[in-house]
Amino acid sequence: MRELFETLYNKTQKEYYIKLSKYLDNNEKKFIVTANPEMFKLASTDCVLKNILLDSDNDVVPDGIAIVKGARRFGLKIEERITGIDISMKLLELLNNKKKTLYLFGAKSEVLDKIGTVIKEKYPCIKVLGMTDGYVDNKDEVFQNIIDLNPDVCLVALGIPAQEKLIAKHFENVKRGIYIGVGGSLDVISGSKKRAPQIFIKLNLEWLYRIIKEPSRIGRFIKNNIGFMIDVFREKRK
Ligand code: UDP
Repeated sequence: MRELFETLYNKTQKEYYIKLSKYLDNNEKKFIVTANPEMFKLASTDCVLKNILLDSDNDVVPDGIAIVKGARRFGLKIEERITGIDISMKLLELLNNKKKTLYLFGAKSEVLDKIGTVIKEKYPCIKVLGMTDGYVDNKDEVFQNIIDLNPDVCLVALGIPAQEKLIAKHFENVKRGIYIGVGGSLDVISGSKKRAPQIFIKLNLEWLYRIIKEPSRIGRFIKNNIGFMIDVFREKRK
């Protein structure tokens, strides 16, 4: 598992935001992966996901305190966590300031309706090229259409690891733009779900808030997050 930690972005959030702004200014093509313990655990049995995480062309950012702490156990220094929701909101702010284009793929259609209103009110200079909910049958067709539209940013909210795999599958056809899997971020930005209160975020307990709010996540959490910690502990002892 050590190799997965080695490719992670290790500087500060502020420095990463400067990178994002430059990508947009230079019309660069970039696949951003927000890595959390669940993703690392899944990658131990899923080589497609593992290759995505190890691809040095991708920006793999540490989305989770367990990732930051896990890296430290292997003697690697990662400044801080950079979450998918924070990157998503920063991208919206940058797109608005730079008057650039956006496509949203994923989440429920009512979430997209709400987010359309949020964008009109808070980010009026973003040109939205389109939105497609994440419950369509042919996701490949939607993705190819997005590539043809050539947005500056595409937020893909289909859950882990489906969103990363879909982006990876089509990425060689992408000409430019930032593509990122954002999980439940659109639910939060639209106001359909609440992000954890500031105190949970500050204490790095956002994961606990999500479990309290959605107890059905507990099985998935134990399997992947606790499994991740056990794997890190075991590998470190070898
Ligand atoms: N989703 C979707 N299509 C699907 C499954 C999920 O669009 O077939 C959306 C779902 O509505 C939600 C997001 O993907 O907006 C996944 O959110 P979750 O909080 O589960 O993200 P994760 O924990 O995987 O990051």
